[in-house]
Amino acid sequence: ADMITVEDLDRWLRLSAERLHAEAERLTELDSAIGDADHGTNMTRGFTAVVQKIDTAAATVQERLKSVGMTLVTTVGGASGSLYGTFFLDMGRNSPAEASMSAEQLAAAMRAGVAAVIARGHAQVGDKTMIDAFQPAIDTLSEKLDGGASLAESLQAASAAAAAGCESTKPLVARKGRASYLGDRSADHLDPGAASTAILWAALADAESA
Ligand code: ADP
Ligand code: MG
Ligand code: MG
Repeated sequence: ADMITVEDLDRWLRLSAERLHAEAERLTELDSAIGDADHGTNMTRGFTAVVQKIDTAAATVQERLKSVGMTLVTTVGGASGSLYGTFFLDMGRNSPAEASMSAEQLAAAMRAGVAAVIARGHAQVGDKTMIDAFQPAIDTLSEKLDGGASLAESLQAASAAAAAGCESTKPLVARKGRASYLGDRSADHLDPGAASTAILWAALADAESA
């Protein structure tokens, strides 16, 4: 059976940190168009701290994910710090206090994480936020697993859905977050948070198929 261990999570977090670092300039550029030009810096700071904490062993997937959430909340600041922090905290709270979890448990935990981000930020699909990438990704992950696909295949499809969801934000007018202050002028730009969410899902798919 497909099981996700603490080591698998750590591989995901390290790969996420590498890619966020590599794409920090692009993320900040996206944020300079419709925000305050700090999204790349915010994500890099947060995930650098996350990777430093990985050196501390975690006995359970729940413990690792909750610690990632706490680290993001306390080191990032800004909207994305509290929202990604909430995602990982609630993903952790909904993960088993065991050394590994099944694909179905992973999907359920991630779904709870997305629901918590929505409860906190009140964004719906179409508001031009990270939810536009998160929601189709988690829906695709569940659909694929329910249909009998392997975890690796399901995560690749979910990652593609996150990327498409990110692209879908381009024409939208922002209704949440800083970009909403721009009104119609927020259109014709990708949402930076949707772009970082797509990076996280791609890293998960690639870490899991490695
Ligand atoms: P800040 O806007 O505080 O500078 P960041 O630039 O790091 O924080 O993150 C901005 C991103 O956060 C946006 O691109 C958007 O995806 C996301 N975001 C902002 N507000 C919300 C919200 N209420 N719900 C969901 N996502 C949001
Ligand atoms: Mg910003
Ligand atoms: Mg800011």
